Order: sequence, then C-alpha cells, then structure tokens
Amino acid sequence: MEYMNQGKVIFNAFKDTLTGDLPKNESDYPKWFKDRYDKCLSCEYNIDNMDTESLDFISKAQKVTFNKGACSICHCFVKQKAWTKTEACGIEKTGAYPLWNRHEIVTRDKDPFNLVNLSYGFVNIGIEDTKESFVIDFGSKNMHNIPDINLQLISKNGVVVNSDNLIFYGDFDFGVSQKTNGTITDITINTKSVFGEVKEGFNVSVFSIPYNYMDKEYEIMFKIIYDHATN
Ligand code: SF4
Repeated sequence: MEYMNQGKVIFNAFKDTLTGDLPKNESDYPKWFKDRYDKCLSCEYNIDNMDTESLDFISKAQKVTFNKGACSICHCFVKQKAWTKTEACGIEKTGAYPLWNRHEIVTRDKDPFNLVNLSYGFVNIGIEDTKESFVIDFGSKNMHNIPDINLQLISKNGVVVNSDNLIFYGDFDFGVSQKTNGTITDITINTKSVFGEVKEGFNVSVFSIPYNYMDKEYEIMFKIIYDHATN
C-alpha cells in the first residue's frame, strides 16, 4: 500500500487556503491545528528561526522568495503542512520521532483501506517502507502515561473485513482487539497490557486482519513499534 500522491496532498492544502477552509484568523483555528502549528512556529528547523547561511538551496530560495515559514527538513510550508491531517512532522524523515503525529492515512485508489488515528496525541501512524503494512509507532514514551489507543480501519471499494478474526505474529499481541461495523473496523490497543509484556529495548509486534475481496482472502498487516530503551 502507498500514501496518497503528494501532489494531491499539496493541492488540497493550498485549495483550503484559498477557499478559506484553513482559517485566516488565529481565533478560528481548531485546537488540533493550533497545537501543530505552534510547534512548527517555535521549531528550530523552521527556516524563519534559522540563519539564511545555514539553509540548503531550496530553503534559501523559499526564505528569499516567500515570506512564510517552511520546514527545512521536508521543505513544506508549515501552515499548510500542519493543516493537512495526512501529514506528520517532517523530522520523521530523519528517523527521529515526530513532534506531531499523523491523524490519518489516505491510501491510493488501488489500496483497500484508509487508517484513522483517533489517538494522534499519543502515537504516530505510517506505512512501512516495504509498503507491506501500516505502522503504529509509540516511540519511546513512558507507557504508564498512555491511555488505550484507538484507530479506525476504513474499508474502500466494498472490501469486507472478517470480524473477530485477528491474527498475531510474534511473542505477544500488544493487547489489540477489533470490532467491525460495516465499513469501519475499530481497533483498540490496551496499553496497560502492553506494559506488562514489553522487554527493554526495541519491541515489535505484528498482527493482521483478514478480509475478502472478489471471493479471495487477503490480510491487512499492522506493525506496532515501541522503544523501551529510554524509559
Ligand atoms: S514539520 Fe516538524 S521539524 Fe518541520 S518545522 Fe514543523 S515541527 Fe519543525
């Protein structure tokens, strides 16, 4: 599976800017957007907060040509990036844990599912580089401070998920449960049960949800990552 085409993402963000869906006045900002945007405004990687001399060619051109903040890592304009729910903080590209997380993954038309992250304040979601699975990334935060994680798997194109039929791979299941209702499958990760199971260091667990499409059986794969090294 793959992320929605990046050109479409950028187009949608600027369309929202022009149509006014992205509010002009700060007093109209929804909280989720304000939280993200504030982090970008004060971030050391925002070109507005950096010496021009330290910038690469693209960032330098952005700083000279446009009078608005952009991320020196991904080169996105921060206001439009923070507004886009399918985006995560650009520092993710360096392998570091993002300063703000992805709210949803919209996949390409050929892919059978989108994923919604109702717990974006606590975990990041993504697609593995191999394109084989969704990734649920806890980073290295203290599990004691994290409530249950809630995600929604959204079926596209009439795909039917097999309810109550989760398959686990690996040593433990991370306390995952699911409940399917039509095109929406609610996935819950019981973090309290996770904490009793994790080892020091890097923990990975994989599970899949089977589904039928055109009379054939497939599985949608998920990988959960938790780094217990720094707790
Ligand atoms: S996207 Fe992330 S790294 Fe880039 S400016 Fe915003 S907070 Fe900083």
